[in-house]
Amino acid sequence: VQGFAGARIAILGLGRSGLAAARSLRAGGAEPVCWDDNPAARAAAETEDFAIADLSRPGAFDDIASLIVSPGIPHLYPAPNPIVAAALRAGVPVDNDIGLFFRSWATGQWDEFDVMPRVVAVTGSNGKSTTSALIHHILREAGKPTQLAGNIGRGVLDLDPARDGEVVVLELSSYQTDLARALTPDIAVFTNLSPDHLDRHGGMGGYFAAKRRLFSEGGPDRAVIGVDEDEGLFLAGQMAQTPADDRVIRISVARKLAGPGWNVFARKGFLSEYRKGRQAASIDLRSITGLPGAHNHQNACAAYAVCRALGLAPRVIEAALRSYPGLPHRSQVIAEAGGVTFVNDSKATNVDSAARALAAFPRIRWICGGLEKEGGLQALNAHAGNVAKAYVIGREAAAFAMQLDVEAEICTTMARAVERAMADARPGDTVLLAPAAASFDQYDNFEQRGEDFTAQVRARLADEAGE
Ligand code: ADP
Repeated sequence: VQGFAGARIAILGLGRSGLAAARSLRAGGAEPVCWDDNPAARAAAETEDFAIADLSRPGAFDDIASLIVSPGIPHLYPAPNPIVAAALRAGVPVDNDIGLFFRSWATGQWDEFDVMPRVVAVTGSNGKSTTSALIHHILREAGKPTQLAGNIGRGVLDLDPARDGEVVVLELSSYQTDLARALTPDIAVFTNLSPDHLDRHGGMGGYFAAKRRLFSEGGPDRAVIGVDEDEGLFLAGQMAQTPADDRVIRISVARKLAGPGWNVFARKGFLSEYRKGRQAASIDLRSITGLPGAHNHQNACAAYAVCRALGLAPRVIEAALRSYPGLPHRSQVIAEAGGVTFVNDSKATNVDSAARALAAFPRIRWICGGLEKEGGLQALNAHAGNVAKAYVIGREAAAFAMQLDVEAEICTTMARAVERAMADARPGDTVLLAPAAASFDQYDNFEQRGEDFTAQVRARLADEAGE
């Protein structure tokens, strides 16, 4: 990062992105001053000879030019972070690695890059990782240089120098868009909006506002916007100057989009692109195994729209969609045995994503539960018809099960849930882990939960095969 030579820049949070920021600032001649409450994280920074200073001590911000905050640190809600508040009281600008990335870029001081890549930024409540990975996959298959970073994969300040024609794809969470002082992608994507992380944004309004920062006045050249919620509809309306303005590409999986602008939608398993009222392409998504369910059709629409905006031909995109391998823990088919399909959707940590999974499969033996999020579980009951039975895990399994309109068995542990679901499963059933809850009551993260599920299923199938 250039533009800060000689300046002391404080860094709060020394995880992957904090350390990358420190390295990158030092490479540009700045003097990073690092802090993390966790001694192990401080030790990691010390091994790289970074200066450590307790940012909570009085006067810590006296000679600091800027504070860089990690996305994992709640800065304003549910309670203001005292270090961030002290920086603001001292008049010190607060930013994050994403803001640094765009700021040093915009001023042309990004000297690690000889070539200016184009930047695609993806945000939304669900589907960010899948959409980002899908765009990256399609570009690679089409032979275009591309890198993937942000909330997925590596930190933005760890990117390799760009090659000619490179497209950088960034997955950005609301935590990242909220704090970044600059957000200037060439193409911005908003997949959808549903309640999640509300505690950290002071409610739905704050959550939407954080995501919306990607779509400022004078913002991206092109905006790909999911219009199946009112917020997306509103955003698309605001970005378009005229009804036919093709700065906005609208996407939907709820209805046929008929406006005179640029539209991509999926209905009954077919993706259609319409531009100025005329059909430009149609793709049969039903046979694409890496993208099951309407929620993945939404991700396919978003990735398709971005790649069209980047100038790829529909047939090239279609071929690449067919070879998409999928991401672990997102509607991932992990085994098929005796006519039963086993699906790991551990990343379904909120009600909306779990509801999408319930809509995508038949006769579900549903493993759910964990640390419940705000907003209640009512929305899940719309899909009760697809559920043969629920097997509820988590420390509060009984309270969770009480809210479901389906037959539910309290299993508490994953081992018990897998055992019971497999004992009940008949040919044609789907054993689905889609928790609709966070994992932290029993696991470090959703990956560990998904790995536990996968290991339990595989061990039992191996036992059965051996018997
Ligand atoms: P994110 O990065 O936004 O969390 P992921 O692609 O990792 O999104 O998917 C998170 C969860 O949401 C998974 O359970 C996945 O199956 C589900 N999901 C994926 N895409 C969508 C979508 N477009 N709408 C709703 N749920 C989705």
